[in-house]
Amino acid sequence: MTLDLNRLLAGRRSEKYGLHERYLNAQLVRVLKTIGYDVNFISAEGPYLTDAAGARYLDLLSGFGVFAIGRNHPAVIDALKQVLDARLPNLVQMDVSLLAGVLAERLLALTRMDRAFFCSTGSEAVESGIKFAHAATGRSKIVYCSHAFHGLTMGALSLNGTEVFKTGFAPLLPDCVQVPFNDLAALEAALAGNDVAAFFVEPIQGKGVYMPADDYLPEALRLCRKHGALFIADEIQTGLGRTGRFLACEHWGVDPDMVLLSKALSGGFVPVGALLTKQWIYSKLFDRMDRALVHGSTFSKNDLGMAAALATLNVIEEEKLTARAATLGEAILSDFRAFRDKYELVKDVRGKGLMIGIEFGMPRSLTLKAAWSLLEAANKGLFCQMILIPLFKDHKLVCQVSGPGVHIIKLLPALTITDADRLWIRDSFDKSIADCHRVPGAVWDLGRNLAAHAVKARAGRAA
Ligand code: PMP
Repeated sequence: MTLDLNRLLAGRRSEKYGLHERYLNAQLVRVLKTIGYDVNFISAEGPYLTDAAGARYLDLLSGFGVFAIGRNHPAVIDALKQVLDARLPNLVQMDVSLLAGVLAERLLALTRMDRAFFCSTGSEAVESGIKFAHAATGRSKIVYCSHAFHGLTMGALSLNGTEVFKTGFAPLLPDCVQVPFNDLAALEAALAGNDVAAFFVEPIQGKGVYMPADDYLPEALRLCRKHGALFIADEIQTGLGRTGRFLACEHWGVDPDMVLLSKALSGGFVPVGALLTKQWIYSKLFDRMDRALVHGSTFSKNDLGMAAALATLNVIEEEKLTARAATLGEAILSDFRAFRDKYELVKDVRGKGLMIGIEFGMPRSLTLKAAWSLLEAANKGLFCQMILIPLFKDHKLVCQVSGPGVHIIKLLPALTITDADRLWIRDSFDKSIADCHRVPGAVWDLGRNLAAHAVKARAGRAA
């Protein structure tokens, strides 16, 4: 029997949340319902989502940065259809793939690397980076940063700089050392024993949009070289034009030993990850014929992923999305910097290109301060929901708080957003932030409600 997809989607549309409550992550459905995000998105185009009631939203989350070229880009759809129509000998395994070869050639030219290793997800690229680093250096110690996020599989989780992600999963990889981000002295101390295989770093940290000091990455690279450790740039979120350069490392003139990519690489259609590195590192892992299959995974280099990635790189180039991210990002940053001057709750605005963070913090005036403290006592980080819920409900902007327990909202939209979208973002944030400065007011009533929910949820956990 052939699958009638349209019939299935139309016939069972209303069951979506119920199915997840019954068979998948019911806690996620609870979260969506609590904050009113259960609007049932049913279609998408570019940076926009449409819900079951026909309302159109601007997506500032882009599937955690996956849809840099927007959703359902026709050029990638066309490439995927061509692959299917070509009836290719996909994943023979005891053969090699032409499309993977062409994609490697293209990515290596863009990044000045020598060799590519493909996989399916960001975490898998990180796991591979750990293995390549061990093989290349004969060392096992890995250094990573506070606030770092490199994925949630056991190896990648061992390099996570936010404790809540790790809680309950010990033991993780041994020999992983955390250093504060932007602290060169701590990095040097960690490297001093000349026993570190690699330093993993996101050029701009995804959780919190923390920016490196101007000299941090170049100096960190120099220290790694001095102590024989590899410098591994996790560009899974920052790469492929997101920050206004093809790789974010380019902003600081840094040439890493290894670059990790994923997320936006295949236009969001097929999971693809890539590890790009130097010849000498690659050849330490794949060093003999009998070790030709010593590392890899079944679906890597699959034709759909490789073709989608080639088409995505075309789109990034033809639509000049990297330059677009730089100019639009700068415009949004300057809009947001004006909020920092205008609103006492806004503490910091930072980012590069279309990776932007806006951080809120304790206000100065007494009534606001009291209201803030009450909310924080119920649940640290709850304040951002008072911005995010009205942004979603009243202004149709989809975005998210940038990590657990922080007051940072992150914008990670498609690089294809327009100047009109920029104004949509500016005016919506302006109104939502202004509303938070009125106490008492409807937004603080919402805050009280959320706080009550949080306290109830905590009591439920304790019971
Ligand atoms: N590294 C970074 C910088 C990321 O942002 C992410 C995903 N948010 C990952 C690694 C993990 O990627 P994935 O979820 O595809 O495993």
